[in-house]
Amino acid sequence: MIGSLSSNIPSGPLDQKWEKHKFESRIINPANKRKYSVIVVGSGLAGASAAATLADLGYAVKCFCYQDSPRRAHSIAAQGGINAAKNYQGDGDSVHRLFYDTVKGGDFRAREANVHRLAEVSVNIIDQCVALGVPFAREYGGLLANRSFGGSQVSRTFYARGQTGQQLLLGAYSTLNRTIAQGTVQMFPRTEMLELVIVDGHAKGIVVRDMVTGAVTSHSADAVILATGGYGNVYYLSTNAKGCNVTATWRAHKKGALFANPCFSQIHPTCIPVAGSFQSKLTLMSESLRNDGRCWVPVKKGDTRKPSEIPESERDYYLERMYPAFGNLAPRDIASRAAKMQCDEGRGVGPGGLGIYLDFGAAILRYGKGTAGEKEEDVRARGRAIVEEKYGNLFEMYEQITSEDAYHVPMRVYPAVHYTMGGLWVDYNLMSNVPGLFVLGEANFSDHGANRLGASALMQGLADGYFVIPSTIGNYLATVAPDKRPKPTDGAFREAEEAANARTSKLLGIKGKKTVDEFHRELGLLMWDLCGMARTEKSLNRALARIPTLRAEFWENVNVPGSGESLNVSLEKAGRVADFLEFGELTCRDALERRESCGGHFREEFQYTEKDEEVKSGKVCAGDVKRDDENFLHVAAWEAGADPSKSIRHAEPLIYDVAHPSVRSYR
Ligand SMILES: Cc1cc2nc3c(=O)[nH]c(=O)nc-3n(C[C@H](O)[C@H](O)[C@H](O)COP(=O)(O)OP(=O)(O)OC[C@H]3O[C@@H](n4cnc5c(N)ncnc54)[C@H](O)[C@@H]3O)c2cc1C
Repeated sequence: MIGSLSSNIPSGPLDQKWEKHKFESRIINPANKRKYSVIVVGSGLAGASAAATLADLGYAVKCFCYQDSPRRAHSIAAQGGINAAKNYQGDGDSVHRLFYDTVKGGDFRAREANVHRLAEVSVNIIDQCVALGVPFAREYGGLLANRSFGGSQVSRTFYARGQTGQQLLLGAYSTLNRTIAQGTVQMFPRTEMLELVIVDGHAKGIVVRDMVTGAVTSHSADAVILATGGYGNVYYLSTNAKGCNVTATWRAHKKGALFANPCFSQIHPTCIPVAGSFQSKLTLMSESLRNDGRCWVPVKKGDTRKPSEIPESERDYYLERMYPAFGNLAPRDIASRAAKMQCDEGRGVGPGGLGIYLDFGAAILRYGKGTAGEKEEDVRARGRAIVEEKYGNLFEMYEQITSEDAYHVPMRVYPAVHYTMGGLWVDYNLMSNVPGLFVLGEANFSDHGANRLGASALMQGLADGYFVIPSTIGNYLATVAPDKRPKPTDGAFREAEEAANARTSKLLGIKGKKTVDEFHRELGLLMWDLCGMARTEKSLNRALARIPTLRAEFWENVNVPGSGESLNVSLEKAGRVADFLEFGELTCRDALERRESCGGHFREEFQYTEKDEEVKSGKVCAGDVKRDDENFLHVAAWEAGADPSKSIRHAEPLIYDVAHPSVRSYR
């Protein structure tokens, strides 16, 4: 293993660690900063904010992304909002409450010190974004507005209609653009990282492919930052952009970086259900909708009546019944399992019974309520206008996809893969175990444990990029002499280029009979069925028996048309699917080894039943996840083997000094 697994958490009281650490961290003087070169792979919220901030600090930055423009990073898709402990509502929020909600939301599987820092800097993010001109929603009087998200009982989510990611990314992108124009950031769009280059145990650069010309080149630097997003597309169907992939982090993993908790994936409860076997992507209906939308299914099994024909008394608002304290804003893992439970019991709606209703009828009447005796249509019109103002673009999106008007008919939704909490292992400085390799945003594992709360991924990406890495990278760079930086023509780079070219030639040379998508679809279905919302020892062993065979078949029978010397989308996809075929196996191994349930990792063998005291006393529901703190209060960090069946599992114990693990109750 390269490097060590020390989390490097600073000493001292939890709420003083970050300030103390910043003060004690090494600083590089302004005149010397320009001598250091930093590579940032990724231009989403984490990458763009890091690249621009580091450039403003004086470092020479190179930023890479595979889209044609940095502003098309997947972060642009984020809908609902971003959390911050500003307590503008005066409803009892605080840094400590945001910290605690996040640790509890992650089912006590995140690193306490990292989460506390996240909650602390959350307040600065909003100020930073407002200064950059992000048009957050405002109250009538001009103050910034807030709404609620799952797993919290306060309103701390800042938003820009249902387009928060887009507005935040435009803010970060505008700064990035300024630094590009100033020449302090050199931007490489349509450029895919294929290899991490390590020299004398330190990350010193990357090998990339120009996606338009096919040219493979090397770039050296004093540190490499990966901000390359999540791996949800290992499931083929997900709410992620089609291009999201695991390649950058997986290739770094194969060079020595540990991969932490790969089995921690988030299934979001409210997505537009799958409509057919040739569908290539799923669409999220933001959690913000559950501020006003109520989830229900018919009480009667197999009820095929239209929703409008089912009277109130024959509806089961199951989240309000099961989790009265949090109701429709129960966290995602819990709400997803509850939806699945209703459908498994035969009370699901729509084709195949794989759907539940998300109903705005009550909210429209409540918002529209005026003087007594008013006509119902006037009340509805007024209520509709208010709902439209809050979520209009989401309703439009729903109508475009389903041809249904959700102001009149409840939305029909079902859980789908959405976010990945696992990622490359990092210490408190966000440095991986490979010295000089830093990992930010969704690509790292550190802040969300086994379940991420809504609106906290944007918060983490921007915290990492705007506030954490600018302070922590100096600790590493101060130990490195910039004049010792290897040249991109040196041996290690040559070797990595040769490996990348050999892989491309191999993929193009197979000339088999199945398309890349066929393999990806089969892997995704297998992952969903056997390692998805519910997993068992048996299902995981079945997946582990099948994936290596599928991978072998891929390398014998995939058909990648075209050449490597030009734009070739099949070739790009083939490289990524080849990585997913290895990564999927590690994910299943991780899920198999973690013999407990926690957050989004639901092993059917480990759940509360009617016999348990916690159910009898009303703390949890039968069917809720059952943790095993005695044996699994740790991060699983995997070291790559010759293939995923040979990977080695390391454990970083999780220490909770303040948020002591308890039964996670939302009742
Ligand atoms: C539909 C949807 C809605 C969401 N809504 C919310 C929300 O309301 N609130 C919230 O907090 N979170 C939300 N999330 C989650 C959140 O959007 C993401 O977790 C977050 O934006 C990830 O940001 P990032 O910077 O880490 O990665 P990304 O935005 O995914 O950016 C990754 C970058 O890495 C680059 N890259 C990747 N691999 C390579 C490679 N090999 N070579 C070169 N470049 C590479 C890409 O080009 C891209 O620039 C949502 C997610 C989805 C799918």
